[in-house]
Amino acid sequence: METIKKKQTVLIVDDSPVNVQMLGQLLKDEWNVKVATNGKTALNIATSEDPPDLILLDVMMPEIDGYKICQILKASDDTKDIPIIFVTAMSQQEDEAKGLELGAIDYITKPYNISIVKARVRNHLELKHYRDLLKDASLIDGLTGIPNRRRFDEVLKSEWKRAFRDKKPISVLMADIDYFKRYNDHYGHLEGDECLKRVAECLQNTLKRPADLAARFGGEEFVGILPATTAEGALKIAETYRESVEALQVEHQESPISDYVTISVGVATIMPSEEQGEEKLVRRADDALYEAKEAGRNQVKGNAPSIDPKER
Ligand code: GH3
Ligand code: MG
Ligand code: MG
Repeated sequence: METIKKKQTVLIVDDSPVNVQMLGQLLKDEWNVKVATNGKTALNIATSEDPPDLILLDVMMPEIDGYKICQILKASDDTKDIPIIFVTAMSQQEDEAKGLELGAIDYITKPYNISIVKARVRNHLELKHYRDLLKDASLIDGLTGIPNRRRFDEVLKSEWKRAFRDKKPISVLMADIDYFKRYNDHYGHLEGDECLKRVAECLQNTLKRPADLAARFGGEEFVGILPATTAEGALKIAETYRESVEALQVEHQESPISDYVTISVGVATIMPSEEQGEEKLVRRADDALYEAKEAGRNQVKGNAPSIDPKER
């Protein structure tokens, strides 16, 4: 697990450049600082690929005010975990209550005390750091060290949306070790675990594009997400994966089909025609996997119409 703590980023949002400047000076030695002097810029930065770890948010701003920004960020899964501290001249208790009810983690009134602002920012960033660590750990499979089912579900959802937006196909492969129960029965569970680690590593080495994701689906089943990949491309990659597992030459005396551990792989490709429906891909990859098993195992089967089928 990551042990080096990366420098965290604070986003300062205030329509007054002087205020932004002052807060920025205060924080820039300890943290990365980004700034926005209007709501639109703030939302763009918060929803970017490199979101801030904490937002210091002014309330009164023209067009989109701070409350509204907070509401928007808290309503989206992608941004709801970014802690928000209101920094505002509105010092009535009702104002503070409103801010906190909207999901802000803290509320600082102007004029502020420099040491208190720094201390609160530091405390909230510390908590954010540990929350990030916990989140990362909860998305990794303990045995194989590759992403787990939860992570797979998350990424599949967002990649499906992206594929829909970009009008690109998306593929999923699902692999299952052949006769793995017999492997466990013959070699023992510890050897079984070792085998799972090697098959997992093999999948990770096979999926080379930055946007690809290899994950353990559960038990002895592994999945891959291949964004912007056609049916032909995905079939090729699945075949490479099958071959590379075979090439590991992990002895399997009890397998009726090979001297070594093998996998069966199902592949599905869909051009999404709506924003949701990513579970169709999994279902169809699973159907294809079943076909591969039925056809004798240690092979790849595809399942690839070019448009999003409304029915499975
Ligand atoms: P098939 O070729 O049809 O896939 O047969 P199979 O024996 O591989 O499939 P089955 O679903 O009958 O058995 C899966 C086995 O995987 C049973 C279980 O003991 C084993 N398994 C699941 N998770 C783990 C794990 O974490 N460690 C180990 N060692 N074995 C596991
Ligand atoms: Mg299975
Ligand atoms: Mg199996």
